[in-house]
Amino acid sequence: MRVVILGGGPGGYEAALVAADLGAEVVIVNDEGLGGACVLWDCVPSKTLLTSAQAFSTLEIAPNLGVHFEGTTRSDEVPRYEVDLPTIQKRVRKLAQDQSDDIRRRVVDDGVRLLLGKGRIVDPHTVEARLVEGGAERLEGDAILVATGSDPRRLPTAPTDGEVILSSQDVYDLKEVPERLVVVGAGATGAEYATAFLRFGSEVTFVCSRDRVLPSQDSDAALVIEDVFERRGLKAVKNAKAAKVERAGGGAVVHLEDGRTVEGSHVLLTVGQVPQTSGIGLEEVGIALDGKGGVVVDGVSRTTVPSIYAAGDVTGKLMLASVAAMQGRIAMWHLLGQAVAPLRWDAVAATIFTDPQIATVGLSEQQAAKANIDVEVESLPLAGNSRAKMSNQRDGFVKLLARPGSGTIVGGAIVTGYASDLIAPVSVAVLNRLTANQLTQPFQIYPSFAGSIQECARRLANRVQGHYRY
Ligand SMILES: Cc1cc2nc3c(=O)[nH]c(=O)nc-3n(C[C@H](O)[C@H](O)[C@H](O)COP(=O)(O)OP(=O)(O)OC[C@H]3O[C@@H](n4cnc5c(N)ncnc54)[C@H](O)[C@@H]3O)c2cc1C
Repeated sequence: MRVVILGGGPGGYEAALVAADLGAEVVIVNDEGLGGACVLWDCVPSKTLLTSAQAFSTLEIAPNLGVHFEGTTRSDEVPRYEVDLPTIQKRVRKLAQDQSDDIRRRVVDDGVRLLLGKGRIVDPHTVEARLVEGGAERLEGDAILVATGSDPRRLPTAPTDGEVILSSQDVYDLKEVPERLVVVGAGATGAEYATAFLRFGSEVTFVCSRDRVLPSQDSDAALVIEDVFERRGLKAVKNAKAAKVERAGGGAVVHLEDGRTVEGSHVLLTVGQVPQTSGIGLEEVGIALDGKGGVVVDGVSRTTVPSIYAAGDVTGKLMLASVAAMQGRIAMWHLLGQAVAPLRWDAVAATIFTDPQIATVGLSEQQAAKANIDVEVESLPLAGNSRAKMSNQRDGFVKLLARPGSGTIVGGAIVTGYASDLIAPVSVAVLNRLTANQLTQPFQIYPSFAGSIQECARRLANRVQGHYRY
């Protein structure tokens, strides 16, 4: 089998690894470093930036833990810290490049051929690659995988200039910390950048189109983050839709639809991503797009053209690196004759890397209510967890959702510093349809945050299944 992959992000390169492993001849056409936007511009840079922000949180609680800094003596005296943004930016870029190089080495070691250039589908079995080094190459494949990702949504009335009015990818060109940053769009990306720049000392104003930040998240989790933001001085302008953004004086002004204005030294637009489907020959070969511009795919990543699969943000589904990678792997397992089940949309895990983080998996309470699915919910604040007390983390909780009667775990939410790692056992439970009782059985470390997952499961099992034995 010969497979041609268009795009080298997690959707593309993870598929390439699977296909090569199964003996296929694989070529990836990618127009930038391997890892794609995920590694070079989005996930990896933003999480690296947030790691620097996290260091400020650690410093902030240090006096409380009995660690004093030169010149300070009292436990309530918080020393002044300085942000060295150029050093942070340099680290972000180097780390992203290193990660991209590591992926490239792994993929090449597995026998995958890489072409640096722009690809375009010319017929259901052929891609034409215009190479960066000059010239073009026609690549024939038994199958093609489209994994071209997405681009930041642009608003015609809010043109970004890379200096004052910024897209998420412009953040890494900033030379100084914005004095007054207005973040338009209160979803995951906006909340993560707000977290970082609050820590770096910016005065941050959030323009939220709804009545709260993170409107599509578990509402209890969003409330915790909103409370933390407020305590750190973030101003939220709610029920506010940006109509226009323009430069004014040395900064910029956001004009809201209702006539209000919000001014800042910088404006960051985090209003979503759009699937990258243009100019790559999709419609010409008969690939259907949905109403939002994403490539229509089924559960095993097939498009409407039999030899062409699609994976990742280009499908416009849940725009997450982990989903892109899974869609890509499933496509190759299906193509290459492996036993494969359709992607389980009801078991997807996701994290918002605010401080504390919000990690979720499966069904949320809101989704269950909307779909009229009966669920039993148990929630446990982390304030009582001994590990949380030791770490001085007082915000956060564990929440589990189970089906009444069977006690099958169908969802969970965790809010705490390491929620992105802690969600793993709940994710295993949701995917494998374990019951709350089964989640109480594995040994957990004492003391640990994970102990609260088990405690929450125990309470849920007692209530729903009624046969938990101590
Ligand atoms: C700020 C931000 C932070 C994020 N953080 C996270 C996170 O923490 N965790 C998470 O799971 N998700 C995160 N995401 C989402 C995640 O980045 C995407 O879901 C992921 O990148 C999708 O992978 P992909 O393979 O579909 O596309 P991409 O990673 O976008 O890769 C596609 C590649 O294809 C290339 N390409 C496009 N057209 C062509 C062509 N014609 N020829 C050749 N190459 C082409 C693109 O240039 C790109 O390099 C974040 C997104 C943003 C915006």
